[in-house]
Amino acid sequence: MKVEILTIFPDFFRGPLDYGIVSRARQAGLVEIHVRDLREFTHDRHRTVDDRPFGGGEGMVLKPEPLFEAVESLGLGTVEEHTARKESVILLSAQGKRFDQKEAGALAALERIVLICGRYEGVDERVAEHIADRELSIGDYVLSGGELGAAVIVDTVTRLLPGSLGNEASSRQESFTAVEQIDFDGPSSTCASGGLLDYPHYTRPANFRGMQVPEVLVSGNHDQIRRWRRKTALQKTLRNRPDLLKDAALSEEDKEILAQITGEALD
Ligand code: SAM
Repeated sequence: MKVEILTIFPDFFRGPLDYGIVSRARQAGLVEIHVRDLREFTHDRHRTVDDRPFGGGEGMVLKPEPLFEAVESLGLGTVEEHTARKESVILLSAQGKRFDQKEAGALAALERIVLICGRYEGVDERVAEHIADRELSIGDYVLSGGELGAAVIVDTVTRLLPGSLGNEASSRQESFTAVEQIDFDGPSSTCASGGLLDYPHYTRPANFRGMQVPEVLVSGNHDQIRRWRRKTALQKTLRNRPDLLKDAALSEEDKEILAQITGEALD
């Protein structure tokens, strides 16, 4: 299996993947791990990878260009093409589907996985929309970056590769392992703001390869932006983690938006 890790902190991986089972699996050729520096895919003097968020707000967002270029340099083609070749592009995200042993089993059955590590306030949403086929979270908490998550995934998946443990039977007896679990079930997609998932983020350019940021975010209308964010957060939560809604702090306005979304979904 090949693993590609895209990060702005490549040195982070000196250590976590150089010990024990993972190290032995690398030496035995069971897993080949490449760590790529996202700044290599920038074109300005300062090697800029981040920018301010459209619509205002705290923090910076990882720009789409270096991420798209880094993924393109790997020759993966479209989502359809790379999934057909048993390859997966994975965005590490607190808003993602929870990574578990079942998902690890599905990944271990693939030929190549690409792990995209976010930083700052997150990653321009077009990466999740157009190049990743999976969004994975390693748990309901917010890390400073995706690197720890990538290391968790590489470790968990590597020990499931035939031959990595020496005694193949032992991984089957471990916690969480269901033997019939090697299934690819496609893309999926935090816990912020009153218990809801985070809303989508976008940064410059507003038009990137024909992909436009939602008009409301460049309108300057703060109330509409706030309402759009709440609505998309509710939509994402309803879609990805409906279990969170029962404990979420919902205002009357949220309940109205939710009724509207559910109505829209039923239409
Ligand atoms: N604003 C984001 C939110 O509320 O969901 C949090 C961004 S976090 C400070 C920066 C990066 O760390 C994310 O883009 C993601 O790559 C990574 N990250 C944070 N928590 C994570 C988790 N639980 N699982 C996987 N990656 C995580």
